[in-house]
Amino acid sequence: MDDCIFCKIIRGEIPSEKHYEDDLMIVIDDISPKAEKHYLAIPKKHYKLFSQMTEKDADDLGHCLRKIGEIAPSLGLNNGFRCIVNQGDDAEQTVFHLHMHLLGGQKLSTPDYRI
Ligand code: AMP
Ligand code: ZN
Repeated sequence: MDDCIFCKIIRGEIPSEKHYEDDLMIVIDDISPKAEKHYLAIPKKHYKLFSQMTEKDADDLGHCLRKIGEIAPSLGLNNGFRCIVNQGDDAEQTVFHLHMHLLGGQKLSTPDYRI
């Protein structure tokens, strides 16, 4: 999508601190971190909502989740992390390209680590 900020990051048109990339996903630092470690795992295909996914998208997202688990220690998330996906208006999703927030590097119990 031409005007999507995450598509622009994926295409290299906007700079980012990239920690991982493969054919299906990038993992970058969130520009406005809400915890000691705050990454965004962004599937490369542009869509906004789970409800818009194809079966292939679901397979690809499964790959992304498995890969997140695999690389978590290299991201400093070896003691656990929280994975959050905001979906739509009530969740106050602000970037309409599906992405997973990965929060960690500290205990996330207090205060409230909503995104
Ligand atoms: P959401 O509200 O779930 O759509 O989350 C969007 C996230 O994208 C927010 O946490 C923003 O801080 C983050 N964000 C917006 N622009 C950038 C950017 N250029 N680089 C990295 N993260 C960004
Ligand atoms: Zn996009």
